[in-house]
Amino acid sequence: MEVFLMGSDQRSVRCARVSFGKDEKTDPERDKKLIRFLFKHRHASPFEHNIIAFKAEKREWLELVQSIDNPTIQIYYSGGFVWTNLRNAINAMEFLPKDLFEKLKEHFPTTWTVVETGGDIDDTELINTPYSTDRVFLQEKKETSSGWIGLVDKLELGTEMDYYTFIVECPLFVARQWHRHRFGSYNEVSRRYTAYDIRFYIPEVLRKQAKSNKQASIDEPVEEPFQSEFLKEIKRLIDESYTLYEKMTEKEVAKELARGILPQFMKTRYYWTVPRVSLDNFITLRTHEGAQKEIREFAQAIKELVGYKGTDRKNRL
Ligand SMILES: Cc1cc2nc3c(=O)[nH]c(=O)nc-3n(C[C@H](O)[C@H](O)[C@H](O)COP(=O)(O)OP(=O)(O)OC[C@H]3O[C@@H](n4cnc5c(N)ncnc54)[C@H](O)[C@@H]3O)c2cc1C
Repeated sequence: MEVFLMGSDQRSVRCARVSFGKDEKTDPERDKKLIRFLFKHRHASPFEHNIIAFKAEKREWLELVQSIDNPTIQIYYSGGFVWTNLRNAINAMEFLPKDLFEKLKEHFPTTWTVVETGGDIDDTELINTPYSTDRVFLQEKKETSSGWIGLVDKLELGTEMDYYTFIVECPLFVARQWHRHRFGSYNEVSRRYTAYDIRFYIPEVLRKQAKSNKQASIDEPVEEPFQSEFLKEIKRLIDESYTLYEKMTEKEVAKELARGILPQFMKTRYYWTVPRVSLDNFITLRTHEGAQKEIREFAQAIKELVGYKGTDRKNRL
């Protein structure tokens, strides 16, 4: 069976550790224990960033889908390949073709050992289990005016379901727009959990509100002296709100509440794993002049990182 895989045991760990902003940290012993923890406590979304594709006839895919007695499992067919992710594969374990099963064991040795033992593997046995890692942390990175985006990995087989994983750092309001793109997987820093590395976006220029489009801005700066005055005020308020945040957390106010004082200019960071069809949809919608400049810059950066393939299908909504 021709099987193509993206990700590793470590990929799930990185996507889990972004919750506390420590996704660059790696230590196989702790990573393996974290995989066991994620599995036992059903923190399953980090497993979604590992992608599986295998060559099959459409009929074989249909038979597989029909045999699975679980309405939440997502298994797609595109370009002669069956596509899914590791979370789905774990959930559909007993229905998978045997040789795929073997390949998954080989490629995700820690994860699969944990799964097969139902999470009941002791420390010594776990530590002696092989562990697979990513080749590089980031393949390429692009800066935008409000943050940055990095290409972590890609699985390109020339189909609409080719997959990409990115890391994004952007202001909260950009992330809110971004996360409306539901066809993909996200794991994000948790401000309930960590006060680590809090940063803010301060625009270089305050743009004017557009008159023709109530949602949009125009590429024209607000007049002086208001431009400079408002920028100064923004900086002051960000400093003040962050100082209050620090004071509150020092006095044991829970981070999940204290964060409420931090403005939308605060940056967040997340992993985004997305199929080409959804990526192209994102690029079409978010490079459009009606989209906000800050997210437009990200869509443009993605275009430069992996290109835009568009679609030849008519009436796709
Ligand atoms: C300029 C602009 C302004 C916007 N303004 C607003 C706003 O004011 N308020 C607001 O709430 N949102 C707003 N949005 C968000 C917008 O409505 C979409 O949620 C967002 O663009 C994601 O697009 P999508 O649904 O195509 O992507 P995804 O969620 O990634 O979906 C991908 C594709 O999967 C299919 N799909 C996914 N889920 C479903 C479903 N449940 N049913 C049927 N098909 C589905 C569709 O074919 C879809 O194109 C705005 C977006 C833009 C670009």
